[in-house]
Amino acid sequence: MNKSAIIIGTGLGGLSTALRLSSKGYKVILLEKHSTPGGRMNIIEMDCFRFDMGPSFMSMTYEFDELFNAVGIKNPVEFEELEPLYQVYFEGKEKPRRIFKDLQKLEDEFKDVEPDLAAKADAYLKRAAQFWHDTQDKVVKSNFDSMIKYLLKFSTVP
Ligand SMILES: Cc1cc2nc3c(=O)[nH]c(=O)nc-3n(C[C@H](O)[C@H](O)[C@H](O)COP(=O)(O)OP(=O)(O)OC[C@H]3O[C@@H](n4cnc5c(N)ncnc54)[C@H](O)[C@@H]3O)c2cc1C
Repeated sequence: MNKSAIIIGTGLGGLSTALRLSSKGYKVILLEKHSTPGGRMNIIEMDCFRFDMGPSFMSMTYEFDELFNAVGIKNPVEFEELEPLYQVYFEGKEKPRRIFKDLQKLEDEFKDVEPDLAAKADAYLKRAAQFWHDTQDKVVKSNFDSMIKYLLKFSTVP
């Protein structure tokens, strides 16, 4: 029997689900209410300016490798590491604030605002990483069909 699926929405979620299902032999139909696919991963062009509507940088690039490995094709997406990661312009200030991956550079950038930023950020990132790994294994990579099951599993995260 031919398996088929209809996916509503062509954001990253719909497109990656379509790839996974079609690699398993499903005939997939994607429905999209807008004229272009991509969902929030799109751009608006106006008066010679381009605005990102959603993702402007990808922090979990390994998810792309996982997806393309799972469907058996070479990852066609090329990533370029940014440093600074991004710049924020505040009204009335001429210089932007630059967000660096390198914590010493980040400390230098914010030395007028937060002393010892590199050490503080390092401690914070270690705690956040531990929490993320605990949550990823138990919650993020699981499916839940009820709020109760979700909350029960979440309560096991330290
Ligand atoms: C301002 C902003 C900044 C972000 N920055 C980042 C970032 O830097 N890095 C990062 O990884 N992520 C970022 N995100 C998150 C990322 O954009 C989203 O997680 C991701 O694009 C969501 O994909 P999705 O497929 O779940 O939903 P969507 O992209 O919202 O796709 C849903 C699709 O379904 C369509 N649709 C809805 N209802 C119907 C219907 N009834 N019939 C037909 N079609 C329908 C919509 O038109 C849309 O195309 C950002 C999001 C925003 C808003």
